Amino acid sequence: MAAVMIDGRAVAAKWKEEIAGQTREMIERGVTPHLAVVLVGENAASQVYVRNKENACRKAGMGSTVIRLEEDCSQQALEEVVKGLNQDPAVHGILVQLPLPAHLDEAAVLRLIDPDKDVDGFHAMNSGRLMNGQKGFVPCTPLGVMKLLEAYDIPVRGKHAVVIGRSNIVGKPMAMLLLAADATVTVCHSRTQNLSEIVRQADIVVAAVGRAGFVTKDMIKPGAVVIDVGINRVDGAIVGDVDPEVAQKAGYLTPVPGGVGQMTIAMLLHNTLEAVRLHGW
Ligand code: NAP
Repeated sequence: MAAVMIDGRAVAAKWKEEIAGQTREMIERGVTPHLAVVLVGENAASQVYVRNKENACRKAGMGSTVIRLEEDCSQQALEEVVKGLNQDPAVHGILVQLPLPAHLDEAAVLRLIDPDKDVDGFHAMNSGRLMNGQKGFVPCTPLGVMKLLEAYDIPVRGKHAVVIGRSNIVGKPMAMLLLAADATVTVCHSRTQNLSEIVRQADIVVAAVGRAGFVTKDMIKPGAVVIDVGINRVDGAIVGDVDPEVAQKAGYLTPVPGGVGQMTIAMLLHNTLEAVRLHGW
């Protein structure tokens, strides 16, 4: 039987609607949630991502500011911008669009963001909170995956979840969230041996590799839940990390586009409202 296609667009639209309502309430109470995005240089993909974030804020009724810095801007200039945003009481969430140009120290910049405004959840304080089971900002993409599983009532407790990829942005926080939801979690990466065999044992597979069609039908247990985080450009089209034929064998599958990607921005808006609440509103 063909897999149920998880409709990320529909789930994200519901989240955005609720967020817009909560934003209106906050504005009535005298505070306008505000996201500041720092964009360095001319990276074409980053420009698109930032424009999408601005649009999403506008549609939700939130304020947003994009601070654009030249490609050759200095570390000091960038850090001054972040420090200024940390101090600005009208700014609730701060996001530095990655990747930064190679001459800039990304880790140092992320360390500088006030952890209580770190709506991307990349600050070590927030990774630590996630690791320790404390409240904090959770990176938007893995948080979005958890919300998709919840939206489709897909049980996680006691299931074997295999996460392919171990980046700080997706793979590692994804593994932590699944563990916190009582899954038995295996993390695979480029040095994993017998990866196909491991993935075949999974009840839930999360692919965050960055390689088109990496997960194939023969790697999937019949009925497994397959979450495709990948965004790859192939001949001008956007495709995921999961071969579409997997739909013939999986129980659930997220499409690309229209799956996880839709949830990432919704969770960014959600985290921005969390930041407002954290500041006592
Ligand atoms: P990344 O930092 O490049 O990490 C990729 C991970 O995949 C690494 O851990 C790497 O292992 C592993 N990997 C690479 N080749 C492999 C192989 N042959 N076998 C097993 N593992 C392999 O990428 P990322 O930032 O996590 O993103 C992953 C994908 O998700 C990308 O396509 C990205 O565009 C997409 N993404 C989507 C969203 C969204 O909103 N939907 C958000 C963020 C990212 P090593 O650690 O050993 O190198």
